[in-house]
Amino acid sequence: MHASPTAGLVDALAARLGRAHVVTAETDLAGHLVESRGLYRGHALAVVRPGSTEEVAFVVAECARAGVPVVPQGGNTGLVGGGVPYGGVVLSLARLNRIRALDPINATAVVEAGCTLKAVQDAAEAADRLFPLSLASEGSCQIGGNLATNAGGTSVLRYGNARDLVLGLEVVLADGRIWNGLKGLRKDNTGYDLKDLFVGAEGTLGIITAAVLKLYPRPKLRATAFLGCASAQAALAIFERLREACGDQLTAFEYIPRFGLEIVLKHAHGAVRPLAGDHAAYALVELSSPQADADLMGALETVLGGLIEEGLVEDATLGASEAQNRALWYLREMLSEVQRNEGGSIKHDVAVPVSRVADFIEEATLACEAAMPGLRVCAFGHFGDGNIHFNLTQPVGMDKAAYLAEWERFNRIVHDIVARLDGSISAEHGIGLIKRDELRLYKDPVAIDLMHTLKRALDPHNILNPGKVVALEGEMPAAL
Ligand code: FAD
Repeated sequence: MHASPTAGLVDALAARLGRAHVVTAETDLAGHLVESRGLYRGHALAVVRPGSTEEVAFVVAECARAGVPVVPQGGNTGLVGGGVPYGGVVLSLARLNRIRALDPINATAVVEAGCTLKAVQDAAEAADRLFPLSLASEGSCQIGGNLATNAGGTSVLRYGNARDLVLGLEVVLADGRIWNGLKGLRKDNTGYDLKDLFVGAEGTLGIITAAVLKLYPRPKLRATAFLGCASAQAALAIFERLREACGDQLTAFEYIPRFGLEIVLKHAHGAVRPLAGDHAAYALVELSSPQADADLMGALETVLGGLIEEGLVEDATLGASEAQNRALWYLREMLSEVQRNEGGSIKHDVAVPVSRVADFIEEATLACEAAMPGLRVCAFGHFGDGNIHFNLTQPVGMDKAAYLAEWERFNRIVHDIVARLDGSISAEHGIGLIKRDELRLYKDPVAIDLMHTLKRALDPHNILNPGKVVALEGEMPAAL
């Protein structure tokens, strides 16, 4: 009788990492097997927690030898099922959590993949610099996960997404080799840009163990406003005028529909109504500057004053203190969470050209409302990036399971409109499992073919996070 290919693997990993860092008990695995919204639940042989890049390389080499899949996991806050294992070993990066170096003059930090985003932000701030990536999950998500998903968030308008914030990477490849690409260079034209292959690859091409990140001057001043207007089209006109007047000082322009604000005020503890009246749409606007004497409030008051006179802005309030600014941001930050209080939510994370974002919201809202009377559209998010979280809350009183069974039908309605507007079916959350099959319908077939070519070249035995993003022939279906 032949020994199973996995026999001895767990022991070999434990011998190198220490028994405490190779976890197999069901209760300890539980938190690693399910995605943050509970949409996917998987299974695994073990969770391993290497403490160095060399140990990550050892784990991958051993798993490759045994033909056992490796699913990297950061904070497990991903929203597309990308980190859920279906067999094999979960490789947690949590113990790789050192800030290796910080160079304020070069404006770079070399950080390990398991640093939480918050820890990176704090390290930058301690050196009077800014690491601008900012997500509501920043206390738990890790920089490796942020890069693997090419995360976006609320500062993309000014600073770009995770891809724009990285200069170099260290990556463990599918055969266990370590690629050291930790260069902090603004200019490096020495052939293919390898780091870009691993950013947004969701752990399917390599395991990111460290990164060189870009830092920026730390803003010394912020001004925040919350404004009400008549429509998404009005919000677009306001955005354009603010950008023209304020340039790079405009760091956020977030969109909230009336329904979104209503449910935040109803369900979020301590949320305070920001404006006296009701409006069809709202925008949260932030200006910031590294100059301590910049007159941001004055600039904001002047532009908004003009927009109120023209009737584009119906009403506005400005945060008079940091506490008031935080209270305004709280309304936006709670919007994702409170939706679950209203029942089932069918979610889409899409991008269109900024010039078409209002057209998209209007057209997709009408189409979805026509497809299901009583449906409540919650289209919100990073309007200034053309990125809308187009979420659909179930009609009041409808059975939740029956409603969620309609997800495919709404995917078709929403994603067809996105495609017609030359947009993308995934703006910032990634593909994972939830959009893997959808991707084939909307991405250029040549691009899909190139993605398969890259996957086969970098991971010929399909060891790294198999079945996610691109599926090779004969692999598990997305509906698991
Ligand atoms: P995980 O969830 O652990 O993993 C995500 C994917 O990356 C998986 O496929 C995993 O296999 C892979 N991976 C993880 N680490 C590595 C590594 N070191 N090397 C290679 N592959 C790896 N996302 C946004 O973009 N913008 C938002 O505004 C935003 N807001 C959020 C708010 C909340 C409340 C929550 C719960 C999530 C939010 N997200 C947002 C989604 C999520 O936080 C991001 O996708 C984040 O980047 C995931 O990081 P993580 O460490 O949790 O990764």
